[in-house]
Amino acid sequence: MQLIGKTALITGAGQGIGRATAIAFANEGANVILADINLENATDTAKELADKDIKCWPYQLDVSDISQIKSMIDFAVDECKGIDLFFNNAGVTQHISFFDINEIQWDKINSVNAKGAFFCMQQVAELMVNQGRGGKIVNAGSIAGKGYKRASNAAYAASKGSVIAMTHIAAEYLAPYEINVNAICPGMVQTDMFKGIVSLRSSETGQDVLQIKENIESEIPLGRVNQPEDVAALVLFLVSESSRNITGQALNIDGGMIMH
Ligand code: NAD
Repeated sequence: MQLIGKTALITGAGQGIGRATAIAFANEGANVILADINLENATDTAKELADKDIKCWPYQLDVSDISQIKSMIDFAVDECKGIDLFFNNAGVTQHISFFDINEIQWDKINSVNAKGAFFCMQQVAELMVNQGRGGKIVNAGSIAGKGYKRASNAAYAASKGSVIAMTHIAAEYLAPYEINVNAICPGMVQTDMFKGIVSLRSSETGQDVLQIKENIESEIPLGRVNQPEDVAALVLFLVSESSRNITGQALNIDGGMIMH
């Protein structure tokens, strides 16, 4: 129970990696703000935490809307005793080939993954500085932002490259306030996002879904895609005291798909 007394904010907490991380944090005693554009899913995550001895607050938030982020910060101050730990996780993508990406798709992906991630981090960091009790921030990057060649699309790869770059800048700015800022860079994670990409590849190539998954796994040195719980375990480490001297890093969790 290493997170007792802490309040965590997780964006994209309604499913996938965000939900698995909410469970991991709650198992360690943290109270959790479950922010998601899909309030119904965030409420379902809250139901999964019902048997834990913690408080949780499902909260509807579109991370691409700065005024909504500011309102959520007010809510955290008024109702949840502020924020100690932040998993900046909400993200979107779809499988689009290089020549097919249009302006609407570019803007959608980057307004959530890059702009949304930045302004969530900026607003949470300002609160943490004002609270004066340090903090931990973990941003959801991806190996797509580090040159992984089979990224779902170039707009997504650019958005995740932005997340890694903004992690470095924030880590430098926030170190004097005892705020650690790191990014996680998953390879494949078996969530709805992954399933969506696999089924689109399947309809484009005519290959069956299982075959595509097997092909992906055959390219992974450790031979398996992540489960959301694998990623949650890394995020938990990065918000724990065990990682107190780690900041400004973008850590891969990908079974060895890329090694830099
Ligand atoms: P997911 O699609 O299962 O879940 C994403 C969550 O974000 C959903 O609950 C969705 O409602 C929420 N969301 C989407 N747009 C939002 C918005 N504008 N405001 C607030 N919430 C919003 O995805 P996941 O696989 O759990 O991915 C989580 C993060 O991990 C993302 O940033 C993703 O890019 C990253 N990631 C995923 C994989 C993978 O293979 N699944 C790999 C690398 C990185």
